[in-house]
Amino acid sequence: MQVAKSITVKVSKRINRDKFLSLRNFFNTYQTIARFYYSYILENSLEEKLVSGEITSKDLKNILHQKLYRQIRETFDIGSQTVQEIRDTVVGVINSYAQLVKNGKKASLPKVEEFTVRLNHPRVVSVFEHGKEFDFFFKVKVNGDKRVAVPIECGEMQKQLLKDALNGKYKIGAFQLVKRDGWFYFVIPIKKEVEIKQKYDGVVGVDLGLRYNAVITLLYKNGKITKVEFLKYRKLMHKIRELWYRIDELKSMLPEGQNTSKRIQRLWKRIRRINDWIAHNVSKKVVEVAKENNSMIAMENLKRLYPVKGKNSRKNNRRISNWIRGKVVRYTIYKARWEGIRVKLVNPKNTSRICHLCGAEGFRKDAIFVCKHCEHTYNADFNASVNIGIRATLPNAKGCVNHPVGLIALQSHPF
Ligand SMILES: [Zn+2]
Repeated sequence: MQVAKSITVKVSKRINRDKFLSLRNFFNTYQTIARFYYSYILENSLEEKLVSGEITSKDLKNILHQKLYRQIRETFDIGSQTVQEIRDTVVGVINSYAQLVKNGKKASLPKVEEFTVRLNHPRVVSVFEHGKEFDFFFKVKVNGDKRVAVPIECGEMQKQLLKDALNGKYKIGAFQLVKRDGWFYFVIPIKKEVEIKQKYDGVVGVDLGLRYNAVITLLYKNGKITKVEFLKYRKLMHKIRELWYRIDELKSMLPEGQNTSKRIQRLWKRIRRINDWIAHNVSKKVVEVAKENNSMIAMENLKRLYPVKGKNSRKNNRRISNWIRGKVVRYTIYKARWEGIRVKLVNPKNTSRICHLCGAEGFRKDAIFVCKHCEHTYNADFNASVNIGIRATLPNAKGCVNHPVGLIALQSHPF
């Protein structure tokens, strides 16, 4: 199976002014040319012809080349490789719209504010390692076919991934230059072939809850729970709730017929960012534990979540945490796949109602689970996470009956 991932690195803030201006200029020229292609397509209804099948996307590329290429080269001081890359980017955007319409989906023409700036590696951008001051230099062919060495900063993990990719361990796709909050970043897609492992020594059960963002337990093949981690981002969750309330407040003050505003959207964006950060960190931890212990991962299948009940504030809490939970699951699958680790999504029904030790029913008292049969008490989320792990490996088992020491029954299970 082929798996993909992308590395994001930042243009160093210590870049000198001339270089920064060249890069920005190049970015803007790219956008101008892309919009030029785009409006030509719309003016000549070429997107309709693509939808009806009268022309193919290859035809579209040819038409654009014949009609506009020379004019663009004469107007803008930019390399032919880049001009073709821009044309292909625009055709890509139009083509994915056409495919949607063809498949009967209701789609409207994309309102493109910013096109993805794709840079062919190694023709348009090449990478140089830099020992001390910066992590890398990216030499980018900008306007006038001039090459600018852009200083790059990145984290240790990104650095290693990029080095490995350059050494041929992964396939590298076209680099993307993106602008976020007024600054530039490069996104580098990489790919590799992966075989999902078949044999494991344990299972990492993950409970994604309200009280904790995640409880991670490692159920080892000897039937023992050998690792437990409680992850909680209390301050960030509090921040999200605060932002959420502020959005509600702003919404109630909007004029009739209007359901959002620039300010509200900005707040959403901040929430999204915090969510992303939490989901990224939780999933990273889960995959780390699984990798270190040669274990597969078990999580709840979120489609089977129960309907929302209760008071409004609880409802909101649940909505916020569901949102993050969805992200954690997606990111975990994505990160685990890269490592060749299997993620099994299990039906979460009753995982918080049965005792992980004896399988009998119990009840929750706030954060505590009390078993009616063996009378043990546990942290409720911990109990659920073990049950999720058990369910992934022994789908029909309810706890592990009559074995108070641990889950010995799992010993015989091959995982
Ligand atoms: Zn019990």
